[in-house]
Amino acid sequence: MGYSIAIDGPAGAGKSTVAKKLAKKLNFIYIDTGAMYRAMGLFFARNRINLADEEIVAAACRGVDIRITYENGQQQIWLQGENVTSLIRSEEAGNMASSCAVIDCVRRKLVALQQKMAKEMNVIMDGRDIGTVVLPEADLKIYLTADVETRAERRFKELTDKGESCNIEAIRKIISDRDYRDTHRAVSPLRQAEDAVYLDSSHLSEEEVVNRILDIFSEKTGC
Ligand code: C5P
Repeated sequence: MGYSIAIDGPAGAGKSTVAKKLAKKLNFIYIDTGAMYRAMGLFFARNRINLADEEIVAAACRGVDIRITYENGQQQIWLQGENVTSLIRSEEAGNMASSCAVIDCVRRKLVALQQKMAKEMNVIMDGRDIGTVVLPEADLKIYLTADVETRAERRFKELTDKGESCNIEAIRKIISDRDYRDTHRAVSPLRQAEDAVYLDSSHLSEEEVVNRILDIFSEKTGC
């Protein structure tokens, strides 16, 4: 078993940007678990599967093939043999992910895949349930958050920088709705693990967040 760092928190808190930078500095593998839920959401949408139908959902969970590979250190996600890494980045895919993430068999399937990967490598993994469910023995757990306003502004900037037209009000609403769903679901809701370090990034730069986490990690492990 290698070293593991778990980062949990709500959508838009900067988890993936920070985790990628940390992975580079520490030479760890970054595992984006949200991408796995997004790929699963895409699978359900493409096959027009009714999420309320437990039997069909269970059969779909057995039949779906989700794989992770790395190309030049970048995570690639494969759904039924197709590379869907870029396809799953849309706001719509995020919502499909959060809708199917409430289903027990979906979570069991993806958690098993995540735990297998963490056994084989030094990993930094981000998501909603990493410190509480996936890696309860992680060497370091971080709960990274930021207020809704800051997260909406960051997302707005990200989209407008990409040339996409968007509306800040609509983004704020999507973020609040997703927070509500992620924190109120019955199975593995988003919450801070008791032994996680709480970091609010609303008034911190990415670099400040990365450096804080590196300091805490080296204090804890001597690495
Ligand atoms: O992190 P990202 O926005 O890509 O995640 C998409 C959705 O997948 C989240 O809103 C959440 O509902 C779900 N998710 C989860 N558990 C994880 C990672 C993501 O439930 N470990």
